[in-house]
Amino acid sequence: MYTQPDLKYFIVLNGEYDWPIVFLSILIVCFASYVAISMNDRIQKNSFFDRKIWISLASAAMGFGIWSMHFVGMGAYMLPVSMSYDHSLTILSMIPAFGASFLAFYLANRSDKSWFLYVLSGFIMGVGISGMHYIGMESMIMDAKFVYNPLFVFLSIGIAILASFVALYIFSTSRKKQMQGRLMKMLTAILLGLAVTSMHYTAMLGTTFYLNRNYLITNSTTHQMDTAFLITGICIGVVSLLVLLMLSVFLDRYIDYRVSFFDTRTKLPNARLYEKTLRQTSSTKSLAVWQINNFEKMNMIYGYQSSDELVDFIAETLQKVRIPQITLYRLKDNQFAFLTNRSDQLEQLKQAMLEVSESWSNPVVIADNHIMIEGVCAISTITPKDDIRDLYNYALSVLEHPTTVFQREVMLYDPIIHTYSFDHKIMEGIDRAMAENQLFLVYQPKICAETTSISGFEALIRWQHPEYGLLSPIVFIPILERFKRMRDLTDWIIKKACSQLRVWQENGHLEWNMAINIPGEYVSSSRLVGVLQHVIKETQLDAQRIELEITETSFVESIDTAIYSIETFRSLGFKVALDDFGTGVSSLSYLKQMPITTLKIDKTFIDHVPGSEKDAAILKAIIDLGQSLNLTVVIEGIETKEQYSFLTKHSSALLLQGYYFAKPMVADEIEEWIKHNHPLI
Ligand code: C2E
Ligand code: MG
Ligand code: MG
Repeated sequence: MYTQPDLKYFIVLNGEYDWPIVFLSILIVCFASYVAISMNDRIQKNSFFDRKIWISLASAAMGFGIWSMHFVGMGAYMLPVSMSYDHSLTILSMIPAFGASFLAFYLANRSDKSWFLYVLSGFIMGVGISGMHYIGMESMIMDAKFVYNPLFVFLSIGIAILASFVALYIFSTSRKKQMQGRLMKMLTAILLGLAVTSMHYTAMLGTTFYLNRNYLITNSTTHQMDTAFLITGICIGVVSLLVLLMLSVFLDRYIDYRVSFFDTRTKLPNARLYEKTLRQTSSTKSLAVWQINNFEKMNMIYGYQSSDELVDFIAETLQKVRIPQITLYRLKDNQFAFLTNRSDQLEQLKQAMLEVSESWSNPVVIADNHIMIEGVCAISTITPKDDIRDLYNYALSVLEHPTTVFQREVMLYDPIIHTYSFDHKIMEGIDRAMAENQLFLVYQPKICAETTSISGFEALIRWQHPEYGLLSPIVFIPILERFKRMRDLTDWIIKKACSQLRVWQENGHLEWNMAINIPGEYVSSSRLVGVLQHVIKETQLDAQRIELEITETSFVESIDTAIYSIETFRSLGFKVALDDFGTGVSSLSYLKQMPITTLKIDKTFIDHVPGSEKDAAILKAIIDLGQSLNLTVVIEGIETKEQYSFLTKHSSALLLQGYYFAKPMVADEIEEWIKHNHPLI
C-alpha cells in the first residue's frame, strides 16, 4: 500500500483534474453540511418531530454529502485507464460517513458540553470522513495500481479532524450565544464542507497511480467518459435528497410556526402573533376586543362540541368584517380582537363592531339550543408615545369595568371612566364604605301567593361608590370574596338587616321575616354561628324570623360539613333557604340531603313561562317536587302579570318575589310602597 512498485515494470500516471467537477464536489458537500446543520437546528427548537429523528436526518444529509463528495471528486480526476467500482465496498464506505456524522451531532447536541466532548466529536467526524475516503479508494477497480504517501495519509486525517473540530465548535457555541443567523450557519457549513474536501484532495495529493508498462494506453479520457454517467446520477440523487431533506426542515418550521402563532380551532392568529405584530411598527394603533361572557359555564351546560360550534360561528361573523389592513386575532378562548395600525380607522372600526353586535341580537341555534351570545366589545387606541402594552390593558379595563353588563355593548376606552386598578380600589374602599354608610341594604318583598300579604323581605346589599356610582353586588362581591373580605361584610349585613327587622317589629309588623344571603365559604364557619347568636340576642329577635339564603357553592368543599352547619342553624331556630335552585350542577342530590326549610327557584325557570310549554312543565314539576318534600317554595324574578297568574293558578302555597311586585327598596320607601301598591291584585 505504501511501497513504490519497480519502475522497470511500471510507469507513473499523472492524472488531471476537471476543475468544474472539483468545484461541484465542494458545492455538494457544503450544501449537504448546510442541510445537516439546519436539521440539527430543529433539535433545539420545539419541533413537531422527536429530536432523534432530526439527528438521524442530519447525519443522513451529512453522510450522503461526504460520500458523494468523494465519488464526484474521484470522477473529477482523469486517468487514462478504464475504471469501475466494487458495489459492496462502495456501499460499505457509507457506514463511516453516516456513523461518524450521527455520533458527532449527537455529542455536539449534548447539554453538558466540554472541551473533551468537542475534541471527541471532531475526532470522530474526522476519522469518519477519512474512513469513508480510504474505503472508497479500495472500491475502485482499475488497471492502474496506487500507492499512498504515509505523510499525506497522516496529514489528510489530521486536517479532517481539525477542520471538523473547528466546525462543530463554532456550530455548538454559536447556538449557545443565540446568534444562529443564516450567515453563521453558512460559515459553519463551508467549514464542514472544507473539512471533507481538504481531507479528500490532500489524500489524493499523496496518492500515486502506477501503470504496468505492458498496458496499452488507448484513450486518455476513458476514465472520465466512464464516470460521467455516474457523476450525473450521484449529483441528481444527492441534490434531490438534500432538497427533500431541506423541505422537511421548512415543513417542520412551518408546523412549528402554525402551532405557535395560530389558534387551532379557528385558524386565526393568536395572542403571540398579536404581541409580535404589535411590536413591529410604532404607529397609532386601535384594538377592538370582543369578550364572550360565561364561556366556561357554556362548556359545562352545552358541552365542548356545542361551545366549539359557537366559537366557529363567532369567528365566522367576525371574519366577515371588511376593513382594509385590519387583522383578526383569537387572543384567548373567549376573546377575539381586531388590530389596526391606521389612525383613521377608529370610527370605521366602531361602526363595524356595532354591526357585529346587531347581528348577535338574536339567539344562535346550535344543536337545538338557542344560545344568546353574551359579550362586550372594548375599543382602545394608543399613539406612538404610549407603551404598547397599554393598548390591551385599556381594553381590559373596559371589559372589567363595573358598568359592563355583557349585553353586546360596544364601548370606547375613556381614561376618566375606566381605571385599570378597579379591584384594588374596591378593596381599599371597603372599610370606609362600611363606616361611612356608602354601603346600604335594600329590601325586596316576598309575597304570599294566597293572601297577597307580605311574608317578609330579602336584604340585598348596594354600594354607593364615591367614584363609580351605584355598584351592583354582582360586581363587588366576587372581588371581596377573592380577597377574603366577604365575612366582615356579611357580619355587617346581618347586624343591619336584623336591626331593621327589629324596627319593623316595633312598628307593628310582627309577622315579617328577613332573608339574608350568606356567601358559600362562610356557611361552615363557627364564627358565623357566633355572630348570629350575638345579633339575635342583642336585637331580641326570634331566630324563626330569620332565613339564611345559601347557594350550592356552600357544598362544594364538603357536603358533610355543610349539612352539619345547616343542622346547627336549624337547631338555633333559623330557617335555611337554598337560593338559586336549579343553576348548579347536582341540585337534586343536594336537595335530598339538605335539612333546609325553603327552596328558592331561580329566575331562569320563570323567564319563559307561561310562553314556553316546556319551561312551564319544568317549573311546575320543580314546585311540586319542593312541596312534596315539605319545603316552602319561593319563586324569584317574577316580572309580569302572566307569570304571576300562572303561578297562583298552579299553587296557592307559594311565596313570590320579583320586579312585578317591587324592586328592592331602601327601608324608608317601603311604607310608601305599601300605601300605593298593596294589596296587589
Ligand atoms: P340573589 O340572592 O338570587 O338575589 C336576587 C337578585 O335578583 C337580586 O339582585 C334582585 O334584585 C334580583 N331580582 C329580584 N327580582 C327580580 C326580577 O323580577 N327581575 C330581575 N331581572 N331581577 C330580579 P341583586 O340585588 O343585584 O343581587 C344579585 C346577587 O348578589 C344576589 O342574588 C346574591 O347572590 C348577591 N347578593 C346581593 N346582596 C347580597 C348580600 O347582602 N350578601 C351576599 N352574600 N350576597 C348578596
Ligand atoms: Mg338571595
Ligand atoms: Mg337567587
